[in-house]
Amino acid sequence: MEPAYDYKYTDRDVRENPNLITPVKQYLGSYGGDFGFLVQARQYLAVQGTLPTSIIRGVLNCMRADPYWIGRMPVPTYAAPTSQLLRPVDLRRPRRIELKATFNKPYVMSPWKTAYLVHILNQRESRLWWHPHTGTYECLLQGWCNLDYSRRRNLIMVDNIPESREECTRCRTALQAYQATI
Ligand SMILES: [Zn+2]
Repeated sequence: MEPAYDYKYTDRDVRENPNLITPVKQYLGSYGGDFGFLVQARQYLAVQGTLPTSIIRGVLNCMRADPYWIGRMPVPTYAAPTSQLLRPVDLRRPRRIELKATFNKPYVMSPWKTAYLVHILNQRESRLWWHPHTGTYECLLQGWCNLDYSRRRNLIMVDNIPESREECTRCRTALQAYQATI
């Protein structure tokens, strides 16, 4: 941040620093000159009790030239980064970032009661992504039998094969074929 006396204020400064109107009100209240913009701003303030952002910004930039205010101008401060969630999405950032992940359970299966197969998790084909805009994670769990997308999207990871289910034979065959090559 530049020194306040050399700093040109922006509309963003005013929007994010509601306290900047206080020195502006003080300045306009004691302004005795005849510069049209400042006279109009003073009248507006007297009638409305407040000022639009662009006028506050303009008055602040006039104040910079006033000998009394040189060295006394308020330095704008910005809200903590957490408030960025309220700002529009920055489209230059990637939509999602793939993370290096270890999926630590051996099986995946559909949570639906009617499903009866349990698939063997394919670590190499499973993915974990982070969405920077929303701060959320997305994972794609893949069985060795290469399930089609509509079937694999709601898979959950499990440690064991539940009693009412059985291991997918296509998964076992694909895993054994892969293990034979390494
Ligand atoms: Zn399978």
